[in-house]
Amino acid sequence: MAEPVNNLIDLLLNDNIKALKPYESARRLFSGAGNKQQIWLNANESPFANEYDIDAQRFNRYPDCQPPAVIDAYAQYAGIESDQLLVSRGADEGIELLIRAFCTPGKDSVLICPPTYGMYAISAETCDVGVERAPLNPDFSLDVDAIKAFKGKVNLVFICSPNNPTGTSVDKNQLREVIAHFADSAIVVIDEAYIEFDQDNSWASQLNQYPNIAILRTLSKAFALAGLRCGFTLAQAPIIQALMKVIAPYPIPEPVAQIAAQALGQKGLATLAQQVALLNAEKADLKNALTAFNDIELVGDDKANFILFRTPQKSALMAHLVANGILIRDQSKQVNLDNCLRITVGSPEQNKQLLSEISRFFTLQTSTQEA
Ligand SMILES: *Cc1c(COP(=O)(O)O)cnc(C)c1O
Repeated sequence: MAEPVNNLIDLLLNDNIKALKPYESARRLFSGAGNKQQIWLNANESPFANEYDIDAQRFNRYPDCQPPAVIDAYAQYAGIESDQLLVSRGADEGIELLIRAFCTPGKDSVLICPPTYGMYAISAETCDVGVERAPLNPDFSLDVDAIKAFKGKVNLVFICSPNNPTGTSVDKNQLREVIAHFADSAIVVIDEAYIEFDQDNSWASQLNQYPNIAILRTLSKAFALAGLRCGFTLAQAPIIQALMKVIAPYPIPEPVAQIAAQALGQKGLATLAQQVALLNAEKADLKNALTAFNDIELVGDDKANFILFRTPQKSALMAHLVANGILIRDQSKQVNLDNCLRITVGSPEQNKQLLSEISRFFTLQTSTQEA
């Protein structure tokens, strides 16, 4: 009699995959929370849904691997040459391509600086690539000496600036020191997913000086196109050529290319500037309002479209918000972020509702304590 199929899967499944769990979005867990209108402030998405046109004329054909309209428009936007750019299914695919191209499974490692974005480690683990850690200093600056000690032990150094979830921008001199230190041994990957909120600190204009940097960008945050799955890797041509060896033949669907090109056109970029300004103003107001609560302490900085804060009531506040249709993100499991929650800056209306629920929560707390 044949063995149950479970044994076959256990037998065949890669060892490094066995311990992993399928990605579980907070939103999926949240979707059961009542039938109220839900406000999603958990994934640093934009609250704005902009309109685009689609032309079905070419849907019967495979798309270009690297659609020229998208490449040329983004190269111009970023101030780089077209051969210094790769477009992929989100910045997340850029992370994976870098790992697949530059790290040998079961042998090589990457370096991350937590608290930071989770996908660097997840991508490495799925590729059976090691993950080394040089945690940020308590003020969220780079621990440059700790990072430098990994020379020769890692092929990629992931640095997120502005960093998710701390909202801090990495000091240019620190980063320059790291890039120089790894010049002959590793690529420093600078994740600029939130750079539109911290425009003066991009490394894109320095690409020609540094053969060992790669910059990640995305349309998912400031461009308000998380649903599109479109991101970019910026680097000197030899790195881009290496990534072209591992990317799928047709990674960018034709409708995605059409929408991305529009988002990068004159009108799209004007909308971007307007919405970033509005979100920055909302962020300032939100921060001000949050500091008024005794039990809330702002953490990190505000160089992105989210705010991180610490509260001793973290779990109860999170539960109160979920019960009232508002989802934010718990960051308290990350190193140095005990009791920390992260909120995405939403629309004026959403932010108002968020503040009113936070206010109601602390009022309720006070009245129960007094009772
Ligand atoms: C959201 C995010 C990404 C992922 O971007 P996609 O283009 O949606 O894959 C990458 N890096 C950081 C730091 C992010 O916050």
